[in-house]
Amino acid sequence: MRKIAIYGKGGIGKSTTTQNTVAGLVEAGKNVMVVGCDPKADSTRLLLGGLAQKTVLDTLREEGEDIDLDDIVKEGYGGVRCVESGGPEPGVGCAGRGIITSINLLEQLGGWDDKYSIDYTFYDVLGDVVCGGFAMPIREGKAQEIYIVVSGEMMAMYAANNICKGIKKFAEAGGVRLGGLICNSRKVDNESAMIEELAKRLGTQMIHFVPRDNMVQRAEINRQTVIEFDPEHGQADEYRQLANAIDKNEMFVIPQPLEMEELEKLLIDFGIAN
Ligand code: ADP
Ligand code: SF4
Ligand code: MG
Repeated sequence: MRKIAIYGKGGIGKSTTTQNTVAGLVEAGKNVMVVGCDPKADSTRLLLGGLAQKTVLDTLREEGEDIDLDDIVKEGYGGVRCVESGGPEPGVGCAGRGIITSINLLEQLGGWDDKYSIDYTFYDVLGDVVCGGFAMPIREGKAQEIYIVVSGEMMAMYAANNICKGIKKFAEAGGVRLGGLICNSRKVDNESAMIEELAKRLGTQMIHFVPRDNMVQRAEINRQTVIEFDPEHGQADEYRQLANAIDKNEMFVIPQPLEMEELEKLLIDFGIAN
């Protein structure tokens, strides 16, 4: 089984991209589990047709330790197994610790039993703060393969670079590797070339350039992935291509984060080159 974590700045499109890509993998016959690791708990909405899923941490709080796997895993589109870890009570506890508690509980309850023959687990994690908490899935070996969702906007690139620092820190000891950058376009000038260059300097690849398209919103309003909502649309093909690129990926690296000056220069060079 491949264990993949998707990181990136808040609002960059992690949950949307993860679910749409997972739909592509499902279409290709893979068995997938998605574990939302964001206290917002919106990582599985499109796969569940908008069904509000009770989070693992809420279930633990309300029902104590006596929990069945069915209480926290819901089946979604094409049989995807969906889990939302949830968050601590606001102002109390560490969100990152909560994530690990949830993953450990899933393991104990047999969430990854052979009978499910899961090919892929995706963790959809926050990336604005790369604190000890949100680095947990990397640190504890829960995820082996990281993809960072980024765009040509400064803050998204800054967050991506920071996440690379986190990966680098734990890579040697834990074996976690960066699989690539997913450019989720914001229609910034020279965006594709700029992210290709950022990827190169980090020692990785831009695994796919996902265009910005309103079809994503249209599908979202209908609480579906694009592949389910309009399988013939060009955007559905973009997600199929990304799914295929991840499935075939063999480039796993320890990233080399950039200095702040280098990152700024990259932005200026590509911004002016336009
Ligand atoms: P994150 O999980 O990183 O916080 P989301 O996946 O929730 O971000 O995405 C934020 C918003 O951006 C969503 O409402 C989604 O519809 C929109 N979005 C994401 N990717 C695209 C895209 N390629 N084209 C158009 N809209 C997109
Ligand atoms: Fe929040 Fe991170 Fe601190 Fe945990 S380690 S409390 S997730 S900031
Ligand atoms: Mg999200």
